[in-house]
Amino acid sequence: MSSELNLVLVGPPGAGKGTQASRLVKDFDLPFIATGDILRQNVADDTELGVQAKQYMDKGELLPDELIVNLIMDRLQQDDAKRGFILDGFPRTVPQAEALDSAMTAADRKLTAVVVIEVPDEDLIDRLSGRRVNPTTGRTYHIKFDPPKHEGVDDIDGTKLIQRDDDKPETIANRLKVYHSQTAPVIGYYDRPEAQNKGLVRRIDGTRDPDEVYRHIRALVATVRLEDTL
Ligand code: AMP
Repeated sequence: MSSELNLVLVGPPGAGKGTQASRLVKDFDLPFIATGDILRQNVADDTELGVQAKQYMDKGELLPDELIVNLIMDRLQQDDAKRGFILDGFPRTVPQAEALDSAMTAADRKLTAVVVIEVPDEDLIDRLSGRRVNPTTGRTYHIKFDPPKHEGVDDIDGTKLIQRDDDKPETIANRLKVYHSQTAPVIGYYDRPEAQNKGLVRRIDGTRDPDEVYRHIRALVATVRLEDTL
């Protein structure tokens, strides 16, 4: 059981969770479960869930816990997630964290680490407002910090880059507000004195360049795994 790697990435929108997760996925060969990506796919496919989700996403609001908990619980029960996973964007509220805890306990599994990527709000506003995305592959660029070779198109497949609807300024402000009021308490939840698994929360400085952030995360994962075997 202890060799399983069950990671949760927490951080405000724009902290670089997706970027870091895509590297972790390659190195550890684990399924990457990003609620935002799953929801955006549903919006693109015009599913019932997608139609419902879009109303919340466009405003930068969270979907009701029940909806998202069911979605993730189903996903975690699929075979590929049984030997580990990387979660991005879930849990985003304390009730979601409680639901995940119960499901993990019921399956006799536990989280390996909750990696918190910390970035101040002023940096996030710059990062999110300049972010551009390849709608097909999800690859991201930044108009200032990581521009594509040719303006507005993906370096690899030439797809026209778009701005996510929720990366528009009005929505960014609300997403940050929602993060501080609803998601930041999740960190306190995992850090609470009576928590079963002490030392679960590991904080990372997300203002550094992505390679350095990744080195820290890798080192941290190695440490946690070693501690687990002792
Ligand atoms: P993200 O790509 O993680 O920034 O997610 C985009 C949007 O999807 C959020 O602003 C929410 O509207 C919705 N969403 C993603 N994950 C969750 C979650 N765990 N709970 C509720 N809503 C979520």
